[in-house]
Amino acid sequence: MTLLLEEVYKLQILDSDILSTAKLLSEVKFKISDNKEINSLEESININSINLKKLQIMKSKLELEINSTQQNVYLLNKKIYGGSIKNSKELIALDSEKIFLEGNISDNEDKLLKVMMKTDTTEDNIEKLNNKITHLKNNKEIELPKLKYQEKELSNKIIDLKSDRKRIVPNIRQDILMIYNQLLKSKEGLAVVKVTRGTCGGCRLSIPSADLQRARNASTIVRCSSCNRIIFSDS
Ligand SMILES: [Zn+2]
Repeated sequence: MTLLLEEVYKLQILDSDILSTAKLLSEVKFKISDNKEINSLEESININSINLKKLQIMKSKLELEINSTQQNVYLLNKKIYGGSIKNSKELIALDSEKIFLEGNISDNEDKLLKVMMKTDTTEDNIEKLNNKITHLKNNKEIELPKLKYQEKELSNKIIDLKSDRKRIVPNIRQDILMIYNQLLKSKEGLAVVKVTRGTCGGCRLSIPSADLQRARNASTIVRCSSCNRIIFSDS
């Protein structure tokens, strides 16, 4: 095995580590800034609050209507039973008006009951949503210091890995480095793979023994004939 390939393999290990650490870091950063759940709960509270206002307006309208109709019934009763009206036709007319108004009151009372029930449900919903938000915010408050710590640790790790990388890169031949960098981009961060039991660590297909031999001895790089990655064999 050549020293040349060993350095390229070291670089690959560093780059893989940088890649996975960066992925973890972005997950941690996302968790720190993610307020999606709280925002959507707040949105639901807004919708419920608008509904609650509408229900409150409906409630006072109905109450006013019921009151004024009750007032009218009271006045009708006064007329009907006051003894001032002798005409029976007029009495019958007043009586049917009274029946109509009483029906109206009963309808409005039904409506009022429904509005009050909806109001209760909406108030319950708002309370539940608020509790959920408080719970989430409390959790986040507990999690945040841990996440911030992780963020710092991972950032530091990346800085260290990158400085290791800088030290290794000058040991690698320019032409090989170019191929390596191209492969790193086109092969999802995996340019150099180890050969285990004759199989390529990238595509899992078997490497012809002649290629394996060359990979062990040659002073140049050998690539997997199927996935094109640089193969590395330390056995
Ligand atoms: Zn392969």
